[in-house]
Amino acid sequence: MKIETQEISIPLLKEKEVRLFIKRIDKVHPFVSGNKWFKLKYNLLEAQKQGFKTLLTFGGAYSNHIAATAFAAKEKGFKSIGIIRGEEHLPLNPTLQFAEENGMELHYVSRSDYREKAIPEFLDKLEVQFGDFYLIPEGGTNELAIQGAAEILEESDTQDYICCAVGTGGTISGIINASADKQTVIGFPAIKGIDVLENDIENWTNTNNYKFITNYFGSGYAKVSKDLVQFINEFNTTHNIPLDAIYTGKMMLGILDLVAKDYFPIRSSILVIHTGGLQGNKGMSERLGVKLPL
Ligand SMILES: *Cc1c(COP(=O)(O)O)cnc(C)c1O
Repeated sequence: MKIETQEISIPLLKEKEVRLFIKRIDKVHPFVSGNKWFKLKYNLLEAQKQGFKTLLTFGGAYSNHIAATAFAAKEKGFKSIGIIRGEEHLPLNPTLQFAEENGMELHYVSRSDYREKAIPEFLDKLEVQFGDFYLIPEGGTNELAIQGAAEILEESDTQDYICCAVGTGGTISGIINASADKQTVIGFPAIKGIDVLENDIENWTNTNNYKFITNYFGSGYAKVSKDLVQFINEFNTTHNIPLDAIYTGKMMLGILDLVAKDYFPIRSSILVIHTGGLQGNKGMSERLGVKLPL
């Protein structure tokens, strides 16, 4: 697959002699957005191979992974079950409405039950309730997802730096494994605590040419400032590239700030992975009463 990569030109980049490219994996599929497509790829094949009829997974009420899994399951002929954190709110938000419209059966569990989602006893109970299913963990991250995410990076991606937004760390782990030693992979976590994340990523990867930049997630996951909304809209107007408010918008704001602060050496090049997530902008727009690109 040859994935579209666009160069961004703005006076700041010219002045600093840094080249910035965006890899548009958000465009690989209209509904199975960006990195989620790569993460699901080998899981769907494995579920088919093992003869499962049903996929079961977990997510928050605005989860890109839930939306992506619902559509991918339908496309491949699986039944899908989504275990959603928290209580049901009607009318359904755009993410859950989309999931339900695409055949996903939604079940809500309390936040305390949700924390048990990886514990065998809890999974056994789900099996009693729903019968046999192929389990895809929260965020879609497992070994097969990391294998799929490694395909995000292609031979032609020779830039010095590769930037990627981080949730569970599955996507960046695949990218790290596919990167060359002389490249540096920079992760922009969308969550506060990265200790667990660092541990996981260390386990999932085979090199250490990566680092994290943690000071651009704003006041937290799913916390969206006015400045961020304005930045995303301006970026879309200028470059015709929609960014999401939770992952890629915060990362891009951070990257341009780092460029301004001379973080990247002169004549270096950066590849930004556009992991998608745009379905989330709809719910976010409604929740905050702001306009975001859809
Ligand atoms: C899910 C998601 C991520 C995080 O991916 P992980 O593999 O969980 O780290 C990043 N960006 C977007 C747009 C996402 O939807």
